[in-house]
Amino acid sequence: MRRAPLVLVVEDEPAVRAVLAEALARDGFELVEASDGLSALDAVARSHPDLVILDLGLPRMSGLDVLREIRADGDVPVIVVTGQSGEADRVVGLELGADDYVTKPFSPREVVARVRRVLHRTQGAGEAAHTMDFGELVIDPKAREVHLKGEPVELTRREFDLLAYLASSPRQVFSTQQILREVWGSEPGWQHTSTVTEHVYRLRSKLRDRAGPARWIRTVRGVGYRFVPDQSPAAPGRRADSSR
Ligand code: CA
Repeated sequence: MRRAPLVLVVEDEPAVRAVLAEALARDGFELVEASDGLSALDAVARSHPDLVILDLGLPRMSGLDVLREIRADGDVPVIVVTGQSGEADRVVGLELGADDYVTKPFSPREVVARVRRVLHRTQGAGEAAHTMDFGELVIDPKAREVHLKGEPVELTRREFDLLAYLASSPRQVFSTQQILREVWGSEPGWQHTSTVTEHVYRLRSKLRDRAGPARWIRTVRGVGYRFVPDQSPAAPGRRADSSR
């Protein structure tokens, strides 16, 4: 059986830290705690947590700097915690690659639910998934690697998640809101749909998917996107220009 996930709680207020720790422990999580930014980085390096809950208002080193350092180093999922006035921080946090956020005051149950959801999204998917082989394009969710004509393609974490998400159900149309929710873990309205547009654009250019009509990631106008495997014949009715 898998060991319980290890969660690092970074929070300088002992009372808040205790409430979080208690709720997580009750739910079966293993815990590490840190009360400032430097010890948080230390704990990440030493304990390799499965997830970090990161208060952004920290002494010695700001939570955003901690997040930057964590992201420079790896992919551990991070949930940021902000005060009610911390909207700007929250936005920056998500841009820096936080996976979700909670606002103080929060209910411990809500935090635990978010921890479960983020873990499910970031590790559940990767573990269960097998290599997706689309001929020229091969996506390996376990290794988080993509190869195009045998050459590795360098993708950011989000670009990879987006591609793997779309490719996991070839030809299915995903709405932009659905993609924001599932790939970004975003509440409705929290992130602009242009975030998805920009990532699709970058992904297409990395997959050299822009000569003529896009080949792998098709835009479904007014709705969203879908992944189309290479070998598949085009949908009937869409090839009026190439009828024999
Ligand atoms: Ca604080």
